[in-house]
Amino acid sequence: MHLPDFEEMRTRMVSSQLANRGIRDQRVIDAMAKVPRELFVPESYRDLAYADRPLPIAAEQTISQPHVVAYMIEALAIEKQAKVLEVGAGSGYAAAVLSKLAGEVFAIERIDELAQHAASNLQAGGYMTVHVKHGDGTLGWPEHAPYDAILVSAAASTVPEALKMQLKTGGKMVVPVGSRISIQQLIRITRLDETGFAEEELAAVRFVPLISDEK
Ligand code: SAM
Repeated sequence: MHLPDFEEMRTRMVSSQLANRGIRDQRVIDAMAKVPRELFVPESYRDLAYADRPLPIAAEQTISQPHVVAYMIEALAIEKQAKVLEVGAGSGYAAAVLSKLAGEVFAIERIDELAQHAASNLQAGGYMTVHVKHGDGTLGWPEHAPYDAILVSAAASTVPEALKMQLKTGGKMVVPVGSRISIQQLIRITRLDETGFAEEELAAVRFVPLISDEK
């Protein structure tokens, strides 16, 4: 039986999709080189685990393209002891990459089935500093706030206010903003002080929508 050489595929992905396409932060490159993406994709897609594209996971959701994961995480400039929140845990892959860079990672997923998958994938991979919760991530995870960095892995129509308020001063959030049918803008928000936030547009992206339980 032919068994794919995942390590070799991962090394190739890191050089062709990341290092050769503008990812500069060596810590991010090293983190992406360490996390076995094949653990986070469904069995039937394992051969494509390192393809330059998003892949389907359960519940009609996706695991994002490797370059997009690296780009968003690089934009957060995460330091070693950082406390990080991810909204939209999906398969748990991005949270695993974040855990290689940060002190602790809190990841929220609104689809129960996926939250359970993410938690078991992360446990199987030994990512003990990632905590997964099932719930509406637009409300954040106030018990562990404030965060040094927040990664929003689904597209919001507007930036959720609760998430801004859970950033530390100096903390950064990266969030795709836009309607569900069009291309969205990836926005980086930096908290300047109690009430001030700086906003930068980073790139055009396309994400599944962030679905809020708030009416
Ligand atoms: N980061 C994930 C990974 O590495 O596999 C991929 C995330 S996928 C592109 C977006 C995820 O956001 C989906 O799993 C979706 O269910 C989740 N999501 C959408 N709205 C949400 C919300 N309000 N709170 C938490 N998760 C949400």
